[in-house]
Amino acid sequence: MDFPKLTFPLTVDFGDTEYWVGDQGPFKYGAAVTAFFIGEDIGPVSNDGIPLMHELEHQLQTFGSHLQPYVRERAIDSDSFFYPEEQSVSNSMCFAFHVTGTNTGIMAERYTFSSLHDFLYVELGKAILRGNAPRQCRLCGRWFLHEQGDRAMYCERIAPGEESKTCREAGARVVFEKKIQDEETWKLYKRAYKKYYARYMKGNMSEADFKAWATQAAADRDAAIEQITPEIDAALKAQIIEQLREKLNRQ
Ligand SMILES: [Zn+2]
Repeated sequence: MDFPKLTFPLTVDFGDTEYWVGDQGPFKYGAAVTAFFIGEDIGPVSNDGIPLMHELEHQLQTFGSHLQPYVRERAIDSDSFFYPEEQSVSNSMCFAFHVTGTNTGIMAERYTFSSLHDFLYVELGKAILRGNAPRQCRLCGRWFLHEQGDRAMYCERIAPGEESKTCREAGARVVFEKKIQDEETWKLYKRAYKKYYARYMKGNMSEADFKAWATQAAADRDAAIEQITPEIDAALKAQIIEQLREKLNRQ
């Protein structure tokens, strides 16, 4: 997915089912936040976008849980439900005609955003309202745009270890189902992730160290998943799991 690099202030025309950024578009709701989650450089952010990423994941979990987004486990703080204005943004908005062709136009909500944070907050909220949201591929772990009614749990990129099969094709196969449903591996990874993320949030771990840890941890997790085939014997599996536990927690 290619999303244009944005500059602020930014004018966006939100239509009923799609939107425009200046005269570029139309874009699907959720396209921008998905591009941001994938790691595309779509505009200016502080601290490599990590705090913004976590804020948006939190928003996704709070309001989008009915979409079963495949996001990292994280407790939702009840303030998000009872004091939603704590996350509010202020932007100017007017109704306007967005020109779509010669003598044609549609009514749109025209927002002017002063930061990427404000734009993504609104774009994600509007996406969730329409049943769209970023979803994390259950096979390769990368984000893709889930659209309303779409049941896909896998993305359409080439799957890890495959030459031409996409995650969606490979993920449908039983062998892969078994592999990715290796709960133990994912649980270990998620538990370690929470631990190091908390350490980073408390200021006890630098951002560079946290990012390095997260990259290595994902690689270690994937390597363990690769090794744990359905035919593997129990002792070897236990050994791989134990090694993964040590690797994830070695810092
Ligand atoms: Zn994938």
